[in-house]
Amino acid sequence: MSLTKDLEKIKKSALAAIGGADSTDRLEEIKVAYLGRKGELTAFLKNISSLPAAEKPKAGKAANEVKLAIESALAEKSAGLSSNEMERLLETKALDTSLPGRIPSVGGRHVLTQIVDEIVGIFLGLGYKVAEGPEVELDWYNFEALNMPPEHPARSLQDTLYVNAGREAVLRTHTSPVQVRVMEKQKPPVYVIAPGRVFRRDVTDPTHSPMFHQIEGFAVDRNVNFGHLIGTLETFIHQLFGTERRVRLRPHFFPYTEPSAEVDVSCIACGGKGCRVCGHNGWLEILGCGMIDPNVFKNVGYDPEEYSGFAFGMGVERIAMLRYGISDIRLFFENDIRFLRQFT
Ligand SMILES: [Zn+2]
Repeated sequence: MSLTKDLEKIKKSALAAIGGADSTDRLEEIKVAYLGRKGELTAFLKNISSLPAAEKPKAGKAANEVKLAIESALAEKSAGLSSNEMERLLETKALDTSLPGRIPSVGGRHVLTQIVDEIVGIFLGLGYKVAEGPEVELDWYNFEALNMPPEHPARSLQDTLYVNAGREAVLRTHTSPVQVRVMEKQKPPVYVIAPGRVFRRDVTDPTHSPMFHQIEGFAVDRNVNFGHLIGTLETFIHQLFGTERRVRLRPHFFPYTEPSAEVDVSCIACGGKGCRVCGHNGWLEILGCGMIDPNVFKNVGYDPEEYSGFAFGMGVERIAMLRYGISDIRLFFENDIRFLRQFT
């Protein structure tokens, strides 16, 4: 009788504990406490072997019934708790699929790349082809073939960054060497636009940078004259700055062109009335140009009696600064995202 009572007590306390369990972790503890290797019911089952043979079957049967009852109560409670816990998890940690997504930050082209692409695009439309050359250049291409012999003042040591002690190699000081490289390889007609990085031994300040960008353009064909050059540059300037811009040429000197000129455009800030941007004279200098010197043709094996051509070059940073009213060239290279984002 006392055996039955003990079993009844175990069953009652187990079912009460199961009923009061508030988590699957707690339920696991209860299972171990009753059915585990050292659990209460397990201990009871072990004791059955020491009973008189006549009582063993009855006690065994009763103990198994209790065991089944506990197991089924555990299973039922476990199912209930699991689904509750899942619901709670969904309530507290769920994804709200109605929220708008996070927009990934998208990169954009650098403002200088945009200007280069725009200018190159205008000349592609005029039938020009793009050419590029190395940034580390031989003296021949950077200077000598462009009619700048060793004693020429334009080669002054202050301006040029030399790559080797013998000074045969330089960081190109302009994009004009691309002219020589193209003409060495191709016979006229050539119509080429050549964008690229150039280097000068300059101290960085608001208007100087030791690295900046140029775009060189040139055309060689039969019967090319100065009128073609002016017409080409006017077309270009009107496309880049607007058809209301006036264009002015001033005589100038470049070693590789003859005659040479600097080209001004009526101020894009004041329209020519005079303002701070144009130094109150109404004009902005934007490029240099001229007819390619016969000596340059001789250096690349072109016959100056048969062919003629023009060349022009401009600074990309200068054009970007004028267009957007930027007063410090260093902003282009500091990569401050707040500055760059304004142009994307
Ligand atoms: Zn102005």
